[in-house]
This record gives sequence, C-alpha cells and structure tokens, in this order.
Amino acid sequence: MCGIIGVFGTDDSLKNTILGLHALQHRGQEGIGVAWTDGQKIYCEKRLGYVSELAKTFKLTQSPISVGHLRYSTTGKSEKNNLQPIVVNGIDLKIAICHNGNLTNFFSLRKSLEEEGAVFTSEMDTEVIAHLIMKAKGDIISRLKFALSKVKGAFSLIIMTPSALIAVRDSLGFRPLCLGRLKNAYVVASETCALDIIGAEFIREIEQGEILLISKEGIKSEMLEKPKIKRECIFELIYFARPDSHIFSRDVWLVRKELGKMLAIEQPADADIVIPVPDSGLFAAIGYSEQSGIPFSYGLVRSHYIGRTFIEPSSQERASDVRIKLNPIKSVIKGKRIVLIDDSIVRGTTSRKIVKMLKEAGAKEIHMRISSPPIKFPCYYGIDTPSKGELIASSHSVEQIKNFIGCDSLGYLSVEGMLKVVGDFYENGGFCTACFTGNYPIPPEDAEFISQLRLFRDY
Ligand code: AMP
Repeated sequence: MCGIIGVFGTDDSLKNTILGLHALQHRGQEGIGVAWTDGQKIYCEKRLGYVSELAKTFKLTQSPISVGHLRYSTTGKSEKNNLQPIVVNGIDLKIAICHNGNLTNFFSLRKSLEEEGAVFTSEMDTEVIAHLIMKAKGDIISRLKFALSKVKGAFSLIIMTPSALIAVRDSLGFRPLCLGRLKNAYVVASETCALDIIGAEFIREIEQGEILLISKEGIKSEMLEKPKIKRECIFELIYFARPDSHIFSRDVWLVRKELGKMLAIEQPADADIVIPVPDSGLFAAIGYSEQSGIPFSYGLVRSHYIGRTFIEPSSQERASDVRIKLNPIKSVIKGKRIVLIDDSIVRGTTSRKIVKMLKEAGAKEIHMRISSPPIKFPCYYGIDTPSKGELIASSHSVEQIKNFIGCDSLGYLSVEGMLKVVGDFYENGGFCTACFTGNYPIPPEDAEFISQLRLFRDY
C-alpha cells in the first residue's frame, strides 16, 4: 500500500510529481517523499503526513527528472527514517528508489547483506534492493537485473538516476504501474488518476516483468524474465485503487459496479433501500440497486476531512474513527429495511459500529452485503491486512460474523462470482486471490517470515 510516481523530460517534473502524489494520496497517508536532480547529484525531501503538508512549505526547484513516494507502512515503523525514496549518491552510481509492494525474502536477504558488511539505515524492505543494486556491476539495467533476480515478492518500482527514469513491475505483476505522456515528457505512476491530474495522456501499463528505461535516447524496454503467469492483486480492484483509475486493463469503478450486480444475484435481500458505506461501497451499491431494482439512497454521509479509517496504523485510533467519519441521515434511514453495501469486512469493527449507528437512527432491518468474499488470509504482497488472528473471517462463520456485527442478515460475494466479474479464473488466469483463498502465488518463505514481517511494528 504505497503510491509511486516519476516524471521525465520537463523542468516542471517536481511540480507534476507532487500533483500526481496528491491524486495517489489514498495509497498512503503516513508520509511523502520526493527526489530530484541537478544532473549531477540526487536531492530529496521527506515529510510525515499528507502531500498538502509538504506542499505548504516546500520550495519547488526545476529538475528534468523527479520521483515521489507515498508511504503506508507494511514493513517498518511509521517514522521519517522509513520514508522513501531511498537515495544513494554513490561514487559510480546515484539513484533514488520508490517501491510499492512487499518483498517476501527481505529478512534473509538483509541478514546475508549484513554479514557481508552492509549497513542498513532503515527498516524498509526496499533498502535491500538499494544495497543489491550498489553491489552489482555494469550499467543500471544489468545492476537492476542482478538485484531483482535475488528478491522475491511484489515490487512495482520507480527509480531515477541523474539522467534516466526507470519503471519495473515484478514478473507476476502484483501491483499496478502505468505509463503516460505529457507533451514531450513521460510519466510513470501507480494509477492513471495521477496522470489525469497533471493532464498526461495514458499510453499503457508497464508489463509484468518489464523494465522500462526512459532517457534522452528515448524509451527502452527489457524483460526481467519471461512471465509464465500473471497474478495481479484483485483487492486493488475491489478496494484499494481509486475508482476513476484504469488498472489491470479495467476501469476500477466498472468492476466495482459489476461486483455489486453479481452480489445482488448471489445474495438477494428483501428491502426498501440500498445504501453504500461511503466511499468504499459506493459503486457496488449502485450495481446492487440496478440489478435488484431496490432504490439506491445515500444514507451515510462521510466527512472528507479525515483519511481512510484504516489508514491510521493503530487499531485504537481506528476504532474511534467511525463516528468522526460517518453520520447517518436519520430521515433516510428511519423505519427502512436497508441493504447496506461495503466492499469488504476485515476485522468487522467498522461494520459493527455502522450497523449500531444505523439502528440508532431508526433502521428497521439491516441486510449487510459485501462485494468481495470473506478475507481469511493475510497479504504478503503489500496490502496491509492484519495478521490471520485479527481477520474475523479466518476463524468465524458467516453466521457468527453476522451476530458480531449485529445486522439482520449478512451475505458475501463468492470467489467464483468475483472471478466471473473480472473474467478470470485462478487456475489459468491473472489474479492473486490469496487473501480470500490462501492460494499464495509466492509462498511466504516460512512460518518465521510471518512474524518477522511484523517484527518491527510497534502497533
Ligand atoms: P473492518 O472494520 O476491519 O471490517 O473494516 C472494514 C472497512 O475497511 C471496509 O469499509 C473496507 O472498505 C476497509 N478496508 C478493507 N481492507 C482494507 C485495508 N487493507 N486497508 C484499509 N481499509 C480497508
């Protein structure tokens, strides 16, 4: 859960990078970092907090290339030291690295690099990539190929040198990454909404396993290894990406609406109105309403002045957030049998509070419908799902979850229904569904790894 962007070929690259990061803010709200160059060295600025925090005081400079990163920590504590880009101004190579994803062999790599004498200055898994690149020989592409042949897991990377911008997607393609053009300049970013905000035109997505090098000589594309299968993260489409983005060859909003339609077919309800949990359940609720013929109504109003409930790292903060974030419109709710739509249930605590709020506002019945299957397994590829024990569906039946949440009925979309909507099946297709099925495309190295991933977290 991070947002990354890079701009090449305009003196305004830094301004555009910051604007693009603003559009990607939903991908990480803990901290922001940007890097730029004078053609010799790479400079960088990092700040905890939102993009607007940095923009308030940051003095823009002209730079032909810039990169930027938004952090949501999946490894490492949330402190300034753990913000990206990771910048190395080495004697024979100067680079800034931005990473979205998670490396599944981070600890063993770090351990062996430390045994060789490498000194780590952060807790980020990305730092092993920096060390491996600096250790390798040859041009930047050969160095990258060496480094990335050692790492396992999910990585969409944007890297700059004083003369080039490089974009890489791991060979299973877990995380999104796209390419756009802004007059004579190029932009690479996590999602197309970052291209839109700066007026760049979408060209294509970076292929799985592709290394794209953008320099004065033009664009050069190479492959890390020939990809055999694709495992794009289905949860990006369900929840994480912005609905106005186009990722994995699909319009995100449309996928969500179709998931809602499928949910209405699989999990019908006898009710008066369909209301979404804003913003995450919005498009699925529109689909559910269209398919079922039950009128759509906006019954929960969301304050836009706090971030995503979840994005605050500690559960305590998360728990108190719901009331601050959502308020029911009593005259819409009172006396109604409601279909309440959300995209997912993780711990169940948000849904429980929303149901309580709606009941207090006079709802007659609440039929909760979820436009994804039960989340039973943690993600090791960059989505911050909590450990298995905290995932309510890992140890509770639908009936038990219904009782915990306090709704009158609860229905989830099936894995088959979800895959039908995105037009793919796990066996031969392109999506990672591990959080629902436990089918991990890259097995977590060992049981130890699971606790190691959270070793550094103090929450
Ligand atoms: P919970 O109370 O834990 O069940 O939270 C469910 C809410 O969190 C839903 O509204 C989801 O849209 C949202 N959500 C699901 N997965 C994530 C995630 N990995 N990070 C942040 N929010 C999430």
